[in-house]
Amino acid sequence: MSLLTCASGNSIYRGYDYYNIGKVTMIEDFGGGQFKGFVDGSGNEPYEAFIDVNHPRKSHCNCPHANGKRIICKHQVALFFKAFPDEAEKYKAELEAYYDYEEKRREDEEKSIEKYLDKCSKSELCAQTKGG
Ligand SMILES: [Zn+2]
Repeated sequence: MSLLTCASGNSIYRGYDYYNIGKVTMIEDFGGGQFKGFVDGSGNEPYEAFIDVNHPRKSHCNCPHANGKRIICKHQVALFFKAFPDEAEKYKAELEAYYDYEEKRREDEEKSIEKYLDKCSKSELCAQTKGG
């Protein structure tokens, strides 16, 4: 599926979120990898998105961001995830792997800070006993 590779990381993230909270209210499968759907946006009217997974450049959406441009917006991404839930699961796993990595990195950072503080307080203690 090359549709996601045409979208920005931000659009994919927001699109996944839209899919996840159920903003895709209607989906129509035309076959051949073509889907049309309604995606709730910030306005009152839902946006109409169309995706062609075999020809991503034919995909479009009538939101202000993508209208008239060859941009894969978050609505198209949300529609894509709705059409291919497996891809959404894959993306979710990627996100979680990233968060796990970030968490581990932060933990390591905290540990090294703790170690540093440990050392600090000890030497400060030493200095105090010397001084006093
Ligand atoms: Zn859009």
